[in-house]
Amino acid sequence: MATFLFDQIIFGPVKSRRLGVSLGVNLLPTDSKVCSFDCIYCECGWNPRKRAQKAILPSRFQVKQLLEEKLKEMVAGNELPDVITFAGNGEPTLHPEFEQIIEDTLELRNQFTPRARIAVLSNATMLHKPSVVRALLKVEDNIQKLDSGFEETIRKMDCPASNFKLHEVVENLKAFNGKVIIQTLFLKGVFKDQVIDNTTEEELTQWMKLVEEIKPSQVMIYTIDRDTPATGLEKVKLPELEKIAKRLRTAGLEVKVSG
Ligand code: SF4
Repeated sequence: MATFLFDQIIFGPVKSRRLGVSLGVNLLPTDSKVCSFDCIYCECGWNPRKRAQKAILPSRFQVKQLLEEKLKEMVAGNELPDVITFAGNGEPTLHPEFEQIIEDTLELRNQFTPRARIAVLSNATMLHKPSVVRALLKVEDNIQKLDSGFEETIRKMDCPASNFKLHEVVENLKAFNGKVIIQTLFLKGVFKDQVIDNTTEEELTQWMKLVEEIKPSQVMIYTIDRDTPATGLEKVKLPELEKIAKRLRTAGLEVKVSG
């Protein structure tokens, strides 16, 4: 199916379902995806099987310069973003200068659009790196993925590298002491002859258990929105997402639902 790549380092602003008017920052290549997951629902498509050459990431300098230009343009047009969002063609925390880029972004945000939040959409696989954690603790919206309470389901849905260990990820998420937002994509379907459904009672019970242990400031639940690289996947209907939200709210958690 038709997935797409962001062909710029700074993109948008776009109206995000979850975040409002969002100016995007893509720290990955503009012509291919680089991610430590290969989610079956990824809007950017599959990771390339083989690369002809090493992926080229934008430099810290390039990101700062382009972001400054865009923010100046937005200020001149009186069109300020609600949020500056690190997303794009893969996992932003894989960038070796992620911490420094976040520092530059804080500086530019404070100078040009002090009311905008800074958000990072991440898959939580780089939280063993102290510099990544330090940077994430400085942004307003530290949004980390947890698609299931079972490692086996995450392996089917998110296709992580073989060294992925869910219990380590959960410990790293707990270490944020609540300064973290959990994002979970719910879907149903069949992929490679295996049924995948992270909305069953067994799934929800185990996922809720981990979410309650992590004690996030918010939980974002959503479903497929655009084309996915795998065929045979289905959206979860809004009433079902609302039921999941109700369980979270009953447990005292703040929830945002995007159907
Ligand atoms: S973590 Fe995000 S970027 Fe990476 S494969 Fe999954 S959806 Fe795509």
